Order: sequence, then structure tokens, then C-alpha cells
Amino acid sequence: MAVKKLNKDKEKEALQELTKFRLIAPAKSDEVVIFKQITDPGEAFLEYGNSTVPPKKVVFPQTETLFRFQRGNPELREKNVEEEGTTVIFGLRPCDARAMSIVDRLFSWDYEDPYYLKRRELTTLVGLACVEPPSINCFCTSLGGSPFGTEGLDMLLADMGDHYLVRALTEKGEKLQETLSAHLEDAPAEEEKKAEEMAARAEGKIARSINTEGIPEKLPTLWEHELWKKVSAACLGCGICTYLCPTCHCFDIQDEVEEMGEGRRARMWDSCMFSEYTLHASGHNPRPTRRERTRNRISHKYSYYPKRFEVIACVGCGRCINLCPVNIDILEILEQVVDAS
Ligand code: SF4
Ligand code: SF4
Repeated sequence: MAVKKLNKDKEKEALQELTKFRLIAPAKSDEVVIFKQITDPGEAFLEYGNSTVPPKKVVFPQTETLFRFQRGNPELREKNVEEEGTTVIFGLRPCDARAMSIVDRLFSWDYEDPYYLKRRELTTLVGLACVEPPSINCFCTSLGGSPFGTEGLDMLLADMGDHYLVRALTEKGEKLQETLSAHLEDAPAEEEKKAEEMAARAEGKIARSINTEGIPEKLPTLWEHELWKKVSAACLGCGICTYLCPTCHCFDIQDEVEEMGEGRRARMWDSCMFSEYTLHASGHNPRPTRRERTRNRISHKYSYYPKRFEVIACVGCGRCINLCPVNIDILEILEQVVDAS
């Protein structure tokens, strides 16, 4: 499909067109930017770096009801995800789209998760390329991503100044491009080359990196290494690094009785950094201290996941570094893994 351009003076009209779907876009919320459903195009805030909470919450909500039940009634009232409707996530960053394609492998593996997969099917991802890396702690290029990366996206927009360059990448993206056709124009031939130069410049500005070669194989050999005690000493067990990670996907399932005899089964995000996460009913906890929990977090992302799914479960978004209250830095941990003997 031909590359198009969306003039910025048509941006609001285009977003208005998309409100016929469930439109999710970055928006300001006090001091931070979050992804939320918007009905007024004026709420969208596209001049952002990256959101504090990743858009994973749209397809994998922080809390969701799976079904409702009633005492004496054998019928379960199951959640119908289709009622949420066709969804467009507009303006997400390439690393967050790539994270969804990584998490897809887990939710469609040994058990096909109907809630997650139906939402993914109903969702079109419209990315916004990072002309400037959003943070000093971005390292997407070390993990196979890039500021103009397209993996997981249906459409990619690049901010060219007074307009966006618009490229459909999948069938879903082509359909969306047709929906927006009244607001789009043909892009001049030289625009693609200009975008390629911008992409190379943006890649050159990524300041941090790690050579991941050999890390997945080396991690299991460092099981008892002293580095785990050192790198986890300051950890508060707050779970921020996992809740705000676009690839973290742990959840708990609980039955909640809301009224006498009436209740719901709900699923909610969980975190392997919480001390109760692996606590057995017997009182035994196989990961009793921060040392084991940090070792698990790093090993899961950089060893167990690639062993099972052939991809590291980290996209280098930098959120866990930016937002850890005690400045624990995953790149510094990985550097220690590389140097350990
Ligand atoms: S954000 Fe930092 S303090 Fe909180 S659990 Fe993660 S590593 Fe520990
Ligand atoms: S581990 Fe940290 S850098 Fe990697 S994807 Fe998760 S939040 Fe981003």
C-alpha cells in the first residue's frame, strides 16, 4: 500500500474518525502520560516520550472479571470480550508493540488464553516512531528493536514536523488506512528516504547498550553466585519494575464473593518481586529473599523465556530503570552477569 501523509492540521479530524472504534491514546494524567480511552481528540497527547504504564493493560487489564457465579446456579456468566468492541491503540511506541508480540507467544502456548487472544484479535496497533529516544535509559537496539521498529505494529506513523508519514504494515493497518483515507494525502517520493535518515539518527542517539550474546546460557551457571545478593540488596520488593514492564505478564486468579452467594472470578496482575508470590500454603517459600526473587526476574526474562520462545522477554524500554525507587538498574545487573566468573 502507498505511503501516505497526515497533515497535523488534520490530526484531530483523523482521531475523531477513529472514535467510531474504542480509541486508546496517550493522554496526560496529572504529572504522567497514560494510555486511556478517549472520545475527544483534544485529549490525545502525542508529543510525549513514553507512557508510565505500558499499553499492555489494554489487552491484559490490571484486573478483569473472567466470569460471575451465583450459589445454587450451575451456570457461569462468562465475560464476553467482544462487547469491548474493535479497538485502536493509537500512538504507542515501537518497543511496546514489540513487547506485545513477545507476550503473545506465552498466551498462545500450552493454553490458549481466550480473553487475551480475543482482545489482540480485536485490536489494531498504530505506532509512533521515536524521532528522539524517549529516555536516557532506552536500549531497544540491544534487543533487536529500534526507534522506528515495526514488529507487532499494524501501522507506523513518523513525525516529520508539520505532518506524519503513515505506513500500513498489515491487513489490519490497510483497513485502518482506508478508514482514514479522507484525511490522508499521498506522501512525496523523497519522504521515505528522509524517514530512513531520521531512523538512523534516532538509533545513533540510543546511549545505553548491552551485548546479550551468551547471557541466556550463562545465567543458569551463576545460580549460587554472590552477585545476586549484591544487586538485590536495596530492593524494596515494591513490584514497580514488573507492573510497569511491557513484557511482564504474571497474574493471580481469585474468587471474590461480593454479596451473599454472588461473586466473581477475577484475574489481576501479580509480581514475582512480591515476597508472597511463591509462598506455599505449607508456609514454605522457595524464593524467600530478595536475592532469589531478583535472580528469578532476570533469569526469567533473559534465560527461561528465550529457551522456551526463542526471544528475550525484554525490549529495552528502560522503564524499570527510570522508575525503580532505589535505582536498581537492569543493565548494571546484566553487566555484572557478563563479567561474572
Ligand atoms: S522497582 Fe526496584 S525496588 Fe521495586 S521491586 Fe523492582 S528492583 Fe525492587
Ligand atoms: S525489563 Fe525493564 S527495560 Fe526490559 S522491557 Fe521490562 S521494563 Fe523495559
